[in-house]
Parts: sequence; structure tokens; C-alpha cells
Amino acid sequence: MASTDSFPLQQNGLQASRKYGEAAQIESEQGFAYFKGQIVPMSEAKVSIATHALQYGTACFEGIRAYWNAQQEQLYLLKLREHYQRLMQSCAFLCMKPQESLDDFCNITIDLLRKHDYHQDVYVRPLVYKATCTIKLMLNTLEDAAAIYVLPMGEYVNISSGLNVCTSSWRRANSNAMPVRAKSTGAYINNSLAVNDALTSGFDEAILLTHDGTVSEGSACNLFILRNGQLITPALSEDILEGITRNALIKMIQEDFGITVVERRIDRTELYASDEIFFCGTGVQISPVVSVDHRCVGSCQPGPITMALQARYLSACRGELAKYSDWLTAVY
Ligand code: PMP
Repeated sequence: MASTDSFPLQQNGLQASRKYGEAAQIESEQGFAYFKGQIVPMSEAKVSIATHALQYGTACFEGIRAYWNAQQEQLYLLKLREHYQRLMQSCAFLCMKPQESLDDFCNITIDLLRKHDYHQDVYVRPLVYKATCTIKLMLNTLEDAAAIYVLPMGEYVNISSGLNVCTSSWRRANSNAMPVRAKSTGAYINNSLAVNDALTSGFDEAILLTHDGTVSEGSACNLFILRNGQLITPALSEDILEGITRNALIKMIQEDFGITVVERRIDRTELYASDEIFFCGTGVQISPVVSVDHRCVGSCQPGPITMALQARYLSACRGELAKYSDWLTAVY
């Protein structure tokens, strides 16, 4: 453990987090969106304040990245189909039946990106929501609608210098209270409370524990710890969102790095005893964690395995590795 002198001060955390938060802000009047069955100017994609989804959080969503490869002059959507498969699963949990099929969603997304003619990294946000204007707490009988918008997006958090994180006093929503395998909008109150407390206290991110007090995940990401040469990630039974990045990495770590991956329960104090920790997810990509609850992870610097994995993952995302070409859908 490093001495207090060498411990990275967290006073800049809030400022840095604000900077990255601003990067994800949306120009709500610019560009185009998929709305009511067609691609329209973003300024026309509006709903009533009485919409059920706005009142009660009855919507589900996805976050999909597309990476620009300047050399190849190509924009690559990452794990497009997998994200829409998860969206369909979320819809089923919320008793939603969008008119669009899985193929429709994939094709509309490509059309929308082509319409913008993006030559930079972007983020795609599909949403299926309960569109009826009613105050009744009902799901089955309400109208379902789909919308998709896109925004240019670079780093969502700082992926180079390492994050200083805390364990949150907010527990991760439990599978018997919320469908944690669904990306439902209402459930993100849990995540927002956790990350808001963390940022206000000067940390960069929060780790949420399950109701049993074991490690679940970050506010919008899964996590891995390195201990005794093994990479360990909370098991699916730990109320995690079943991350698409997590799945992809389990395979990459074992095949390309020859490191064993174990999916099991992780105790909170194992975080303090880890040699390396990283978050993973569409937004955070692979982000090293350098301290937890004011305790250094390893040497308080981004870990070498984390950074090697980050480099390989980002190469795969940008279409530089033939082995991973099946992760990608070319837009142009
Ligand atoms: N957990 C939560 C709560 C998330 O919002 C996300 C981001 N979708 C993840 C984990 C990571 O999932 P993925 O790798 O599929 O983006």
C-alpha cells in the first residue's frame, strides 16, 4: 500500500467528471432521429410531458458505440446485433412489443448514421418506451414506440490516468425488485444516485454492492479484478447487467492473454487486495481503477494488464484486428 504522500488527491475528481459529463451532452435541436417510424430532424422528435415513460420510467434503452477508422475511412458499429438482442429482451421484461424487428433496428441505425455522414466516433441511443399519455400504472395495454438518436462521443470517462472510486452506500437494485437484466430507464435512478454521491464526494465513479454486500458493478459498467494472476468478475447472479463488453472480454482475455477468468462472488475487501481493477462497458470502454475507498489498487497507477487489454480491445473496436471483424458492422 502506498503512503498517504503518494496517494493521488481526489480534489480534481469533480472537475474532471464534469468535463467528461459535458462530452456526453446532446444538441437536442441538431441532427436527425428515428421517431414515429421515420428519420426526422431531431427538433421534431418530441413527446408529451404526460407520456407514461416520462412519468414512470417505463422505457428501455441501449447504448451502442461506433468507431471511426480514419485510415480505412470506415465507421464500425460495435456488437450491433447483440445490443438489439438485449433491447428485445428488455422489451419482453417490460411487456413491450415494438413494431420494429431486430433486423429493422439494425438497418435503421445504419441509415441514421449514413444520414449524418459521421467521420468520428459516435454513440447510438435506441429507446423503446410506453408512449400512451396516461397516469394508469399498467403495462400490457399501452402503446409502445421506438426512437433512436445519435451523438458524437469520445471518452465517457478518462481511460488513461485511472479512476479513483468509492463503494456506494446505495445498493445495486435487486433482481426481485427490478429486472436488473433489462436496461430499463427507471432503474437508472439507482445508478444516478450512486454516481452522483460519488462525484459530489470527489470520486470519479462508484462501485455498487449487492443486497448481500458483495461486489456487483459500476454505475454503468461491469468490473474485473486481478488477484493472484487470475481475472475475476462478479458472476451473473450478482445482480449485474449482463454486459456485452464483459462477455467479449472474457473470451479475449483467455484466448489472447492466456489468463484464466473466474466468474464468482467478490467481497468488498477483495477490492482493496487487488493487484489491478478495471471497469468495462460500451461507454467506459476499458477504464483502469487506481484507488477504491481511498486505498491504492496495486501501485496506484493503471495496471499493465489492464492497459494491454485496453489497447487490444480498442484495436478490435476500430477494425484493426481481423480476428474480431465479426464484432463490427461497417456503416459505409
Ligand atoms: N452495467 C450497467 C448498469 C450498464 O448501464 C452498462 C452499460 N450498458 C453495463 C453494465 C455494461 O454493459 P455493456 O458492456 O453491454 O455496455
